[in-house]
Amino acid sequence: MSHKQATNRTLTARDLAVLWHPCSQMKDYEALPPIPIRRGEGVWLEDFDGKRYLDAISSWWVNLFGHANPRIIAALREQLDDLEHVLLAGFTHAPAVELAERLISLAPPGLSRCFYADNGSAAVEVALKMSFHYWRNRGAVKKTRFITLSNSYHGETLGALAVGNVALYKQTYQPLLMDVITVASPDCFHREAGSSWAEHSTRLFEQMRQTLEQHAEEVCAVIVEPLVQCAGNMRMYDPRYLQLLRAACDDYGVHLIADEIAVGFGRTGTLFACEQAAITPDFMCLSKGLTGGYLPLAAVLTREEIYQTFYDDYQNLSAFLHSHSYTGNPLGCRAALASLDIFAQDRVVERNTSLAAHLREATAEFADHPHVAEVRQCGMIVAIEMIKNKSRRTAYPWQERRGLRVYKHGLKKGVLLRPLGDVIYFMPPYVITPPEIELMAEVAWEGIQLATRV
Ligand code: PMP
Repeated sequence: MSHKQATNRTLTARDLAVLWHPCSQMKDYEALPPIPIRRGEGVWLEDFDGKRYLDAISSWWVNLFGHANPRIIAALREQLDDLEHVLLAGFTHAPAVELAERLISLAPPGLSRCFYADNGSAAVEVALKMSFHYWRNRGAVKKTRFITLSNSYHGETLGALAVGNVALYKQTYQPLLMDVITVASPDCFHREAGSSWAEHSTRLFEQMRQTLEQHAEEVCAVIVEPLVQCAGNMRMYDPRYLQLLRAACDDYGVHLIADEIAVGFGRTGTLFACEQAAITPDFMCLSKGLTGGYLPLAAVLTREEIYQTFYDDYQNLSAFLHSHSYTGNPLGCRAALASLDIFAQDRVVERNTSLAAHLREATAEFADHPHVAEVRQCGMIVAIEMIKNKSRRTAYPWQERRGLRVYKHGLKKGVLLRPLGDVIYFMPPYVITPPEIELMAEVAWEGIQLATRV
């Protein structure tokens, strides 16, 4: 049967016979089958029965300018006529060169080299290996470990999983993972009553400083998600922490890896989250929104001095040989260039400030709900944390899956919310309109009402 004649029912049945979906307990699909999407347009997704869903989470935080964006499609069409792919070892192509130039000109000052990969986890692996290898090339062979924050997430491949800290994804695989040093997250959800984000983040930094002091000799790098720990329930912290961390990494001779895979490209209100702390990391990992959400691509930007420790005669075996077949794919790079054109031509970061204000207004009253512990926002990300007992701050038992109730309600009402545990969040494409923001908030409110009934 051609997919043109498919219906939700026929496609779902075929799907469940052959597919194994990511981030899913497949048995859950008995009760709630996957939704087959036929087409997308702007913030909307449409299934095979013609029902529409507002993509409030940008399809796992990748989409920036809407589905089927004509400007990105036009750029891709043009590129397809010229070149779909070529290996990047020994060869090069215009989209890879242009994109590296553009990223370097937009990134925090001092990042002058761009290494490509093809997904976020791979970018994290690249940064970890590059940092380790840099120290080896410099003879610092004792440096073999990494420092990470509790509640952090950096991807699912074994290295990325090891430096992450969300138990749900990590625990099962623990015996396979390298040993890392974990420091308490500056997550401001846990700040004391009356203390500000900056005070809390500054206070929490002391543990990081002590850890660096104690372990600097054996540590290659500290890895963080700047400002928002996204997969860790959208927990947020103050830029001050990043400033202190940058200074301490310099003092103790340890690299700083900024994983901007989720927060990059305007999500936090600036093009890159690091800008809010005015810091330059030693490695900056980019993916997700890099291509506007059209194709898998990743980039790791680093400093010239790091690059130079790998630049040597071949016989010295100090080169960074890491490679993925689709490294720097021309279509991915072209989509990324089209996305950066939109940022520039439409002054997107500036324009998003009014959308962010609208998000704030539309969710302001959620904070008064008896089962909402907090509404927090960082730029274009808003998170609403449901709680069992507000005054005692006790969470619902995770087994109750309250967030899933919100998810189901959202689907019924045509809004794709995909809560993280009990945290409902909005991370919409930047083409969302004020009435669509209101719809999203209204459906989330109803969902919270339903989900927090006994
Ligand atoms: N780092 C962060 C901060 C992420 O949010 C994610 C994906 N959610 C990754 C890394 C991994 O990216 P990918 O899913 O493309 O492997």
